[in-house]
Amino acid sequence: MLDVCLLGSGGTQPLPNRRLSAALVRFGGSLILIDCGEGTQIGIRERAWGLRNLNTILLTHMHADHILGIPGLLLTLAFTGKDEHDPLTIYGPEPLVEILSGLLVVAPRLPYPVHYGVLEGGEQFGLDYTDALTIDCVSVEHDIPCLAYGLTVPRAPRFDPARAEALGVPRSEWRRLQHGESVAVGNRTVVPSDVMGPPRRGVRVVLVTDTRPTPALTRFVQADGNGTDLLISDAMYAGPEDLPKRWESQHLTFAEAATLARDGGARRLWLTHFGPALTDPAAYLDRATSIFPNTEAGYDLLTDSLTFDDE
Ligand SMILES: [Zn+2]
Ligand SMILES: [Zn+2]
Repeated sequence: MLDVCLLGSGGTQPLPNRRLSAALVRFGGSLILIDCGEGTQIGIRERAWGLRNLNTILLTHMHADHILGIPGLLLTLAFTGKDEHDPLTIYGPEPLVEILSGLLVVAPRLPYPVHYGVLEGGEQFGLDYTDALTIDCVSVEHDIPCLAYGLTVPRAPRFDPARAEALGVPRSEWRRLQHGESVAVGNRTVVPSDVMGPPRRGVRVVLVTDTRPTPALTRFVQADGNGTDLLISDAMYAGPEDLPKRWESQHLTFAEAATLARDGGARRLWLTHFGPALTDPAAYLDRATSIFPNTEAGYDLLTDSLTFDDE
């Protein structure tokens, strides 16, 4: 239902076998891209979910390894038939408009509109083409404004026949209530919420990159107790020789990413944004799994599909 692909798993520089970290989400036939370093469009092609269906880009921050792929991607998108009726919206923190206006000097005259949405952190919003997916974001701790994003598919409560019967709603009217309409029963009105069971958790994926740990980030993963099905997290440093660097460049270690997953109540963790010196992230995986067992060392094109719980 919510398909997620880690397009690239590297930080700072693209390497021959590791692209810069970016993630692609497919929902309802449309694509949402999170970050776009150099070469991201090659990964989108390889995943083959249909570049033409890209309508939304979410940028975490304005560092080169997260945005330099944008002009090339937007030019390629121009050759897919995307037209003036099919806008592309790019969201991100300040200075989004200044930076993208500069980048797009080299990609003028695109055949489709490009809209910008400047975010501060704390916003929650839907997309023009679907109300079945919610995006939220939180400000994180990097050396420039930086956001973590959550994508949530909420789940409606189940229709409760016992409640409908108790309220005297004839069976012939149940379908209307199930479709969100109110019905008259005698001289009173029964609304859909009168006949629904308890809330059900939806599906949530969170992408965190380029930050130190913060309490707000843990709460963001917790999502009011609903938790996060898949956390994709910065894990720039694993080896002890690199650990002091995490303070200078404001990134997470494997252990810190795992702690975020554990304390945030995540179900699964993919590590990403590995530093160029970290040639074999999987060799250090125990530094994360000792804290949060359900951890995978991310790699380019790692893909999964998230669905609602059986209930
Ligand atoms: Zn980065
Ligand atoms: Zn950065």
